[in-house]
Amino acid sequence: MNALKKLVKRLRAHSRVPVAVVSVMLVIAGVVLLAQEATRETNARKSPEMLAFEQSPDAWLQNQRNVSQLVKAIDAGQVATVALANGHPGLVLYTLKNGAKASATVPGCTPIGCAGTALDKLAERSAAQGFALVGVDVDPRTKSQHLLDALGAIVSPLLVILTMGVGFFVLMRMQTGMGGGASTLSERPETTFADAIGNDEAKAALNRVKAFMSDPSAYVKLGASAPRGVLLVGPPGTGKTLLARALAGESKANFIAVDGSYFTATYYGAGVAKVKALFKQARKHAPCVLFIDEVDGIGKRSRGNEGGGAESEMNRIINRVLVEMDGFEPMDNVVVVAATNHENNIDEAMRRPGRFDMLVRLVKPTLPERARLFDLYMDKVAADGSHDSAALARMTPGLTPAEIANIVNKAASSAAEAGADKVTSEHVLRAIETQLLGGEISPVKDLLTEGTRVRLAYHEAGHAMIGHWTGAGLVERVTIEPRGQALGVTYMTRDTEDPLYKQNELVSRLAMMLGGREAELLVLDSVSSGASDDLKRASELAIEMVGSLGFSETFGLLSVGGIPDKLLGPDIQAAVLREARTLLEQAQETCRTLLKAQRQRLDAMARALLTREVLQGDELKQMLGDVSEGRKAAPTPAQIAAAPVLELAFTRRDDSSPSPKP
Ligand code: ADP
Repeated sequence: MNALKKLVKRLRAHSRVPVAVVSVMLVIAGVVLLAQEATRETNARKSPEMLAFEQSPDAWLQNQRNVSQLVKAIDAGQVATVALANGHPGLVLYTLKNGAKASATVPGCTPIGCAGTALDKLAERSAAQGFALVGVDVDPRTKSQHLLDALGAIVSPLLVILTMGVGFFVLMRMQTGMGGGASTLSERPETTFADAIGNDEAKAALNRVKAFMSDPSAYVKLGASAPRGVLLVGPPGTGKTLLARALAGESKANFIAVDGSYFTATYYGAGVAKVKALFKQARKHAPCVLFIDEVDGIGKRSRGNEGGGAESEMNRIINRVLVEMDGFEPMDNVVVVAATNHENNIDEAMRRPGRFDMLVRLVKPTLPERARLFDLYMDKVAADGSHDSAALARMTPGLTPAEIANIVNKAASSAAEAGADKVTSEHVLRAIETQLLGGEISPVKDLLTEGTRVRLAYHEAGHAMIGHWTGAGLVERVTIEPRGQALGVTYMTRDTEDPLYKQNELVSRLAMMLGGREAELLVLDSVSSGASDDLKRASELAIEMVGSLGFSETFGLLSVGGIPDKLLGPDIQAAVLREARTLLEQAQETCRTLLKAQRQRLDAMARALLTREVLQGDELKQMLGDVSEGRKAAPTPAQIAAAPVLELAFTRRDDSSPSPKP
């Protein structure tokens, strides 16, 4: 009784439903009645013989005869009625005058006649023999066949609809990530903060999050608001993913990682559904770190109507992320960590309290950190121990941990390709060269004439000697193997961590840049186009020293950069250029004096380069000579800088002129 009342109540609440049901039933009843009336009218027009065939065709169909028997019976004048079946060509039913009923299949017979078959001229024969010829609607199928066909007719479209429905459902689940895929996203990483080298400030910040995740009640008890969102900002490969995983590992939490593009879906609204499903998943797996990489992919909402449908879908996705974050309960132990390299593309609303309000910046590793990274990754491969991590670190300023990991991996791969059983220092150095110069040893090498090789060797030896003897930096490696655009390279690193450059250091650098060209001039009595890049860089430095670094005698403390444009006349420009040129000439003079004094070393180094192509380590140090007596103090390892490597490359002008022309 109660159930009935409930039903009535529901029906009342949804008054349109019964109206719709009654309407549909009335329509169906109308169609059925109409069909019945049509059949009755058609039957009224048919003769009793026709109706007899149609009402119980089995009496004829069960008695199958062959065509010749039928023809014989017609010819013998035994046939009373012949019926051609509509809709079933070839089927002929007939009644003999003695009342016997039979059927035959006559290929070629149609409801309008049997021309060209054994029953040719059936209408004429009917008139001549006096038998009735009628067309009938009979169905030769058995009852079960009939039922099966009827069922098939209903089931097949249903199957098609069902298959399409299932397909659509699966697609939607894939799009919204609600299926098995999302549940496999979650894992419990073993990573710890110790696995990430450097970035101590970031680790300290994440440690605060770890403290919350390990014991949220301690925070909630005191009414402290929990950290909900952490925004990791830093260049690619600096360990954002690694630290997010480490946060999960340290907090004994689950880790779910997606990237911004995860939310973009083909179907409108599916992206929002994905956000909901993802946060549901994270809550289910709490404690959980939900990591969204490249969050800038969804990070900025557009204003007004700009951008159209895709933009508004993006806005809805961001809004949903924010709604989900705002909806965290105090004890929901889920922290969302988002990573980006484009801080400016992050919507302001995302940075509000309770959302991504903790900003953690990741930076590229310092020199000692790079050395530790080399140690870490060399430990993971079968190294022969010949590498000098400090030197490798000096040669790779500006590289990220991921790039260093990649260099070691490349070194190990090339060792394997060469059939070596250990990864040597040389493998790593070559991998560094490939990374820094953007290419493997170039095929240009085979095109170099002996004369060009000699020039290259003296050029690089000149850079190395001057750099070393003027104290411009540490000469790490000299090579005359062409890679990328460079035909030869001198790797020089700075010997101080001081971000400031002193005047004498800049003067030494100027000389070092000119050293290659001066060596060519001294030994070969001519210069080549390969020095053009050196000259360009030296000129830029000299102009900067005069114009903006305050190393000018003419301008004193005046910085040309600070002079308003309207006062910058041709006389000032001429004065800058004149003084810069003087600086270059002084550097040139230094080179000439030093190279002449060290000619023997220069020749020895060029010869060694011509035979071995690469010089480094102790051998290189020995060739350069002991400079310490010429300097006040040798640099301590702590002073070794993380400043950019000076690659003094002897360059080609373009790809079409592989060898430098004098
Ligand atoms: P990001 O997410 O910032 O692009 P990843 O965390 O994906 O960088 O780093 C890529 C790889 O680089 C890591 O799997 C790891 O091998 C290495 N790596 C990155 N940062 C560090 C680090 N600080 N210490 C050690 N290895 C690191």
